[in-house]
Amino acid sequence: MKRYTVRYGCPYKCTFCDIPIKTHRRRDPEKVVDEIEDCIKKGYDEIHFYDDLFNINPKRVISICDAIDKRGLKVTWDYRGRVNGINEESIIRFKKSGGRMISFGIETSTDEGLKMMRKASTVKQNIDALKLCRKHGIVTIADFIIGLPHERSYNDVIKSIKKLTYEYDPDYAQFSILRLYPNTEVFDQAVAKGLIDKDKDKWSKWAMNPLETPLIVDHWDEYVTAEQLVKLQKKAYRMFYLRPSTIWRQLKQIRSLHEIKAKIRGALSVIGIDFGALKFKANFENQIK
Ligand code: SF4
Repeated sequence: MKRYTVRYGCPYKCTFCDIPIKTHRRRDPEKVVDEIEDCIKKGYDEIHFYDDLFNINPKRVISICDAIDKRGLKVTWDYRGRVNGINEESIIRFKKSGGRMISFGIETSTDEGLKMMRKASTVKQNIDALKLCRKHGIVTIADFIIGLPHERSYNDVIKSIKKLTYEYDPDYAQFSILRLYPNTEVFDQAVAKGLIDKDKDKWSKWAMNPLETPLIVDHWDEYVTAEQLVKLQKKAYRMFYLRPSTIWRQLKQIRSLHEIKAKIRGALSVIGIDFGALKFKANFENQIK
């Protein structure tokens, strides 16, 4: 199985996002599909559009589906998108042209939080998008962030994780801890509140020599400490992936040896061998020594 990845830029202004390209470059759908065709000829059978914003609107997705269908291409494809860039027609067409999975930046579980992070989406849009995809057999990955400024206690984060797990119910969930990157609005907010230093120099030094420069990435630790966030992240993964409904759904979706291996790796990490969180924890502990 060979995969091909592409990315382009996003005009939205989410406060935490460090995507540097703010202009969304839209290539002619026919040219996009020329490339898909080229990849198929080279032996790729899955395409993942790692574009920062693939579905700027449903029309664009439909025009790419049209071009794939018109040429009779057999390809499985996924994209990363926004919940306000889909409608029922685009989901139906996506499925028909080989679409398999959409990854949505859901981020958090309250309208207050979405507004604070200028996500330009609502709780209703998030839940509706996930339901629409399930209705038409599209697999969803929901990206969630914990440790956001509007989560004012440990219990607030737990409440959010429960809501995201049981009410939103995507096929896959990714729980990340908010990281404060320079040139993001949330970084400046943290500086203004005195939570972090405006030390952008450390980033320049690190960029000059990433392999040999230690780097401490800051978090919004006004209410919940970084150690607590690591624990909450592990808890979130367990809560989500150890539900019988999630396990059953995962088993039903297995189609290849590659997927079996990936799922076993995922299961191991959820029951305790959590490589990502351990790595983060080890880094964090090294940083605070
Ligand atoms: S988080 Fe997504 S929607 Fe928001 S600015 Fe970044 S790429 Fe765009």
